[in-house]
Amino acid sequence: MRVAIFSTKPYDRQFFEAANCDGKHEFVFFETPLNRETAPLAREFPAVCVFVNDNLNAATLLTLSEGDTRLIALRCAGYNNIDLTIARELGFTITRVPAYSPYAVAEHTIGLMLALNRRIHRAYNRVRNGNFALSGMLGFDMRDRTAAVIGTGKIGALTANLLNAFGCHLVGYDVYENPDCIALGMEYLSLEKALSVADIITLHCPLLPSTHHIIDDRAIACMKKGVMLINTSRGGLIDTQAVIRGLKSEQVGYLGMDVYEKEQKLFFEDLSDVVMQDDDFGRLLTFPNVLITGHQAFFTREAMTEIAHTTLINLNDFEANRPCANNLDLEKLAVIP
Ligand code: NAD
Repeated sequence: MRVAIFSTKPYDRQFFEAANCDGKHEFVFFETPLNRETAPLAREFPAVCVFVNDNLNAATLLTLSEGDTRLIALRCAGYNNIDLTIARELGFTITRVPAYSPYAVAEHTIGLMLALNRRIHRAYNRVRNGNFALSGMLGFDMRDRTAAVIGTGKIGALTANLLNAFGCHLVGYDVYENPDCIALGMEYLSLEKALSVADIITLHCPLLPSTHHIIDDRAIACMKKGVMLINTSRGGLIDTQAVIRGLKSEQVGYLGMDVYEKEQKLFFEDLSDVVMQDDDFGRLLTFPNVLITGHQAFFTREAMTEIAHTTLINLNDFEANRPCANNLDLEKLAVIP
């Protein structure tokens, strides 16, 4: 099957070509993201393959549909970048990669926590400048701290497991309780209560209308002063301006982010020669207690191999008209008027 693969970098090509070594599918790699302007590139491709920051709004979907595309193969788990209602109306099939390496994201989450706590990002620069002073580097023992895991699915549960190994007390919030987390001793609380008792808060729920800005001024106000907040899930979970206010008032003592609500204009590109236009992002970069990575939590060899492998299975199933375990159930997920 001919597949137009959008938002590709050399590393995507490497893993997708390896997975397709028998040449079963014909891949055309586009560096550009998929959006309403670039959707005509997919004309007469029965399938497109897209990533987290491709924008499949109504206009994009309509152009794809007019160009005879039938399958949208997400090479990620989240599907917040697709208008599911329009996709259902236009009869698209949507597949995704529900889990490629939850370990990669959970491990990166812990990496952000440890780096922020022990100021490793600052130590790196200090030592290279010959500054071996310890002032400003004081950290805390993770042991006996209370960690709140918001969203206790695959990644949240693995993060809880790693935090448990540090000797943290675990509290959680989710719409479903995960028995694996309960077995670790996690106490499920209301969102407000979980936020109010935690020294460390880590976000692992999907971005949905109900979780958009789940961390806003009100949520920040009920946190402990100096709390550590980590987001490796989706940028839209945090109201950026609210968290900037929280950092300025020192209510938020540490912020680790792998995702950012306006990341579409920034992440995955080398913009080092370009003047920063995003004032909120620019402000975040001025705080010594903020550590940002550019949506790289998933980026391990194992995850990239699994993403390509599962996407190929999804393409094969669609082409053979077989039921596919990784199809999104649009009857359930779309808002049906
Ligand atoms: P998952 O589906 O296994 O778990 C999500 C959990 O969130 C579930 O337990 C679900 O019940 C819970 N949830 C749903 N609605 C909720 C709500 N309103 N409040 C609280 N909890 C709610 O997903 P996962 O594999 O653990 O992934 C979690 C998120 O991580 C994904 O949605 C994705 O956005 C993000 N992610 C980020 C990266 C990265 O590179 N940074 C990579 C993969 C996934």
